[in-house]
Amino acid sequence: MIVPTNALFKHAYGKYAIGAYNINNLEQTMGLFQGNLQSKAPFIIQISKGARSYTHKKMLEAMLKTADEIFPDAVFAVHLDHGDEATCLDCIKSGLYSSIMIDASHESYDKNVEITKRVVDAGHAKGLSVEAELGQLKGIEEDIKADDHVFTRPDEAVDFVKKTGCDSLACAIGTSHGAFKFKGAQKLKFDILEAIQKLMPGFPLVMHGSSSVPEDEVRRINYFGGAMKDAKGVDENSFALAAKLGVTKINIDTDGRLVWTRVHREYFALYPENFDLRPVGKVFMAEYARFIANKNKKLASAGQLDAVREFCKASKK
Ligand SMILES: [Zn+2]
Repeated sequence: MIVPTNALFKHAYGKYAIGAYNINNLEQTMGLFQGNLQSKAPFIIQISKGARSYTHKKMLEAMLKTADEIFPDAVFAVHLDHGDEATCLDCIKSGLYSSIMIDASHESYDKNVEITKRVVDAGHAKGLSVEAELGQLKGIEEDIKADDHVFTRPDEAVDFVKKTGCDSLACAIGTSHGAFKFKGAQKLKFDILEAIQKLMPGFPLVMHGSSSVPEDEVRRINYFGGAMKDAKGVDENSFALAAKLGVTKINIDTDGRLVWTRVHREYFALYPENFDLRPVGKVFMAEYARFIANKNKKLASAGQLDAVREFCKASKK
């Protein structure tokens, strides 16, 4: 059942966070649905611009419609990850998406407000909720510097939400995209979330770049020929605190790629005579499902499925 992202947020707020997982292909999609059903968790499927052009946006959309049919017990939202204005408008038109993200965080504050407001108005007109971003996450392999201006400023966040009408906000608190998030110990600025929550109680916050980059996955990738040095991610044990501070959506993309890379490197190293794509695909789907189920336990979304289904049905009436 595809549900409004806002309904998921309402149910989760202050108690747990919903896992937002990116998909690009069929095997990821199958593993994702299986893992969420195994752990009885609601979830958000994220589609990035890159995923939309990897095969074809319509291929992805058809796949999700079919997944909704063959997994009738699943409760999920479909979300555009890091959209520009044109992509947001295209997703609004498609009719499949529950929500979209407009990322104009690289623009000036005023420009970010202006673009976000336009997308929010267009999204709300069609019943979609809109995530926006304020502050900037560092990219892959960059040091996280404590420059105040890259972090989200709580007072600015309040002004931004008031001016744009966005439904949720991605905050920069020290996470980054990719597999190389920290040099040395993890430093996340939970005080920013705390301050925003005080100013806007009940308003859903989003954490991007929150893969944990498990040491074991990286070790196995490197053992079978990979070269990922100094990879480091977010401590999964910090999810509970984030959820308490108003984070309702935690984005996980890199970890899924690591599982894919580990499974394929290992499989073809151990079975060098094999050239059939299906046996390894089956291993990946099962391993990805296991990974998702474990992640949902850390997010505390595991076990919430039945309650969320009832909640969404009741709020539709
Ligand atoms: Zn992101």
